[in-house]
Amino acid sequence: MKKKLSALFAAGLISLSLGACGGTGGGISANAPADTTASSAESSDTVKIAYLPITHSLAVLEEANELRDKDGIKVELVKYGSWPELLDALNTGRVDGASVLIELAMKSKQEGIGIKAVALGHKDGNVIIVSNDIENAEDLKGKTFAIPHRQSSHNILLNDALAKNGLTIDDVNVTELAPTEMPSALASGTIDGYCVAEPFGAMAVSLGAGKVLYTSEELWENSICCGLVLTDTFIEQRPDDAKSFVESYKTAGANLTKEKAKEVAKEYLSQSDEVLDTSLEWISYNDLDITEETYSILVDKVKAYGLSDDPPSYEEFVKNDF
Ligand code: ZN
Repeated sequence: MKKKLSALFAAGLISLSLGACGGTGGGISANAPADTTASSAESSDTVKIAYLPITHSLAVLEEANELRDKDGIKVELVKYGSWPELLDALNTGRVDGASVLIELAMKSKQEGIGIKAVALGHKDGNVIIVSNDIENAEDLKGKTFAIPHRQSSHNILLNDALAKNGLTIDDVNVTELAPTEMPSALASGTIDGYCVAEPFGAMAVSLGAGKVLYTSEELWENSICCGLVLTDTFIEQRPDDAKSFVESYKTAGANLTKEKAKEVAKEYLSQSDEVLDTSLEWISYNDLDITEETYSILVDKVKAYGLSDDPPSYEEFVKNDF
């Protein structure tokens, strides 16, 4: 029995927008009005980073907190309400970098945008959520399943789950939905399952609207999803700042214990303790280097599942040598 949509309203879920800026096409800076006219790489002691308020962005949010009271470079966070809005800001140079779905960044790179992936956003941290009447992946045959974007590890994980059970993507109706809409769409029966950035999977569990069919690590060991990217302009014009920013970022990730991650999530994400406790069990932020091996596994999946025929090579796309 599915919970009614009204229960989601009562739980305050519907008001949980990804950002106050949702739908306006612009980002909201946490510290200052967003510069919408030009790259900020030339005249600032800050690095302007675009993010979505999801647990997958916690490493850069923690970094911004850690650098706030120190000498040196500061992180200016710019919050977006959707991946297309964030990507537009990244691709047009309105920000210096972003925490973004790595497949989206790979696509931008493939299309000629000057960006480099300098670290992972996190490891694992995704789940396949299904309605309570679905017992196994085979039950998904003919059902409707939501992902946030075709260019995502969520799409890959769905393909992995189906392949594990002798099915393919052609056996389900795949629909792209905004993350915020997925828990309520599942509860109302509009969709039968979804995979998306957290904590939107944990929300369905918390509300009793769905259950976990697979965690990402059951499908793809040490799976990757989001990446931290910087523009070539920023890296070339401010190499020392880029180096110290990336080093601080990896340290911030390593500092994210479950307790610290929850503290940062409560500051930036406005979610309940129950949702965060569930969600943060699935994710880790240790060792955020993008290794050649990790990247080649991703590239193989991107090609095998038809996300892209020609993803950028490791040498073209990943920068480790700061
Ligand atoms: Zn992610």
